[in-house]
Amino acid sequence: MREYIFYMKNIVVIGGGAAGMIAAYAASSIGNQVTLIEKNEKLGKKIYITGKGRCNVTNNVPVADFFNNVVTNPKFVYGAVNTFPSNKLMDFLSANGLKLKVERGNRVFPESDKASDVTKTIEKVLVNNGVDIILNTEVKAIIIEDGIVKGVKTENTTYSCDSVIVCTGGLSYPLTGSTGDGYKFAKTVGHTISPLKSALVGIELKGAEFLELQGLSLKNVTAKAILNGKTLYEDFGEMLFTHFGISGPIILSCSSVINKHNLDEIDLVIDLKPALDCLTLDARLIREFKENNTKLVQNAIRSLVPKNLVEIILRRASVSLNKNCSEITQIERSRIVKSLKNLNYKVKALRPISEAIVTSGGICVKEINPKTMESKLVKNLFFAGEVLDIDAFTGGFNLQLAFSTGYVAGINS
Ligand code: FAD
Repeated sequence: MREYIFYMKNIVVIGGGAAGMIAAYAASSIGNQVTLIEKNEKLGKKIYITGKGRCNVTNNVPVADFFNNVVTNPKFVYGAVNTFPSNKLMDFLSANGLKLKVERGNRVFPESDKASDVTKTIEKVLVNNGVDIILNTEVKAIIIEDGIVKGVKTENTTYSCDSVIVCTGGLSYPLTGSTGDGYKFAKTVGHTISPLKSALVGIELKGAEFLELQGLSLKNVTAKAILNGKTLYEDFGEMLFTHFGISGPIILSCSSVINKHNLDEIDLVIDLKPALDCLTLDARLIREFKENNTKLVQNAIRSLVPKNLVEIILRRASVSLNKNCSEITQIERSRIVKSLKNLNYKVKALRPISEAIVTSGGICVKEINPKTMESKLVKNLFFAGEVLDIDAFTGGFNLQLAFSTGYVAGINS
C-alpha cells in the first residue's frame, strides 16, 4: 500500500491587496500555514477605491474574449486566467455571502455597490482558514540562502518559511501602499524589471488649445492614436478635456497602448462625427446652411457640436465666425468637414504613474513560470498581481489578473 505523507508548509504572503488576499486564501485552503503581512492598517486599501468605490471586481466575458482585454503579456496569464477565471471568482465570492450583479459590458460589481464588501468577504475566509494576518508591518527584505527562499525580514522580526509570495502591487496610487517594494525585492535577487510606465491614465497634449475646452465631455466620438501613419489605437465612446489635455474611458485605454511607443511622435485624432462619412457630413452641412442661410455659420454649426467647440472648429477651418451661412464656399465647407472629423493634437506625455489606474511594466514574465508563478531564478519565490509585467484595459480585468495570478501562486507555493 502506498503511504501518503502530508506536509504542511509555512507560506508568507507579502501584501494584502487583491492578489495577496487570494494567494493567502488559495495557499491556506490546501492546508498550508499562511502568514499574510500587510504594511497598511487594513487589507485591500486599493480595493476600497476601485470602481469609484463600487469595485468592478471582475468581468465575466467568455474566457477566450478575456485575453483581448489584456494589453501586456496576455499569453503569460493564459494558464492562470483559465485556472481561476471570473466565474470561479464569482462562485467563490457568492459562496461566501457576497451578492454580485453584472452591468453593461459584463462588468461585475457587488450588489451593495460597496467595494469594502469585497474585502470583508475575502478577509472573513482568511480568518476562517486560520491565516495569520499581520497589519501595520512592512517587509524589508526576503531571506535567500543558496538560491532558495528561507524567510522574510520586517523591522523587528524574521519570519522563517518554506515559500514567499510577493504581491506588493505596482507604483500607482502609492498612498494605498503600492510603492514598488516588490520591484526592489525582485531586483535584489537578479530579476529584470521591464520599464515602469503609466497605464490607464490621462494624456497631456502639446499646445494650449485644449485649455479652451477644459471641462467639456464628449460622447459617441472616436479617438485614434497614429504613429508614422500607422493606427496604434482606435476606439469609440466617451472622453473629456481637462487642465492637462484629455482623459475619460477611451483615452485611458489609449494610454495603455501608446505607452510602449515614442510619445513625441504620436498624433491623437478625434472624430467628432464618426457615424457620418465625409460625403454624408458635407450633405448635412449643405442642408444645415440652406435652412439657416440668413444666420451666422457659428449658429448653424451649433446643431453639430457643443458650444465650446464651435469657435475652434471654425478657426481650424479658417472660416470667420461672423460669416453668413449663405457665404460659405464649397472649399470652406470641406475644411469644416475636415475639422469635425480630424480634431488632431500632438501628445506631450502621459500623466504620472502615481495618478495611473495601473502600472505597466514590472517583473519580466520570461523569468516567471506561468503555470505556478514561481521565479525561475529563486526556488520557492512566487510573484502575483500588478508587480508582474501584466496589465489590462478597464472593466474588471486588472483585478481578475491579480486574483488569477494570486490563486495560482497560492496553490503552487
Ligand atoms: P495592490 O492592490 O496594490 O496591493 C498591494 C499591497 O501590498 C498593498 O496593500 C500594499 O500596502 C502592500 N505592500 C506593498 N509593499 C509592502 C511591503 N513591503 N510589506 C507589506 N505590504 C506591502 N481594477 C479593476 O479590475 N476594477 C476596478 O474597478 C479598478 N478600479 C481602480 C481604481 C483606481 C483608482 C485604481 C488606482 C486602480 C483600479 N483598478 C481596478 C486596478 C486594481 O485595483 C489593481 O490592478 C489591483 O488592485 C492590483 O492588485 P495587487 O494585489 O497586485 O496590488
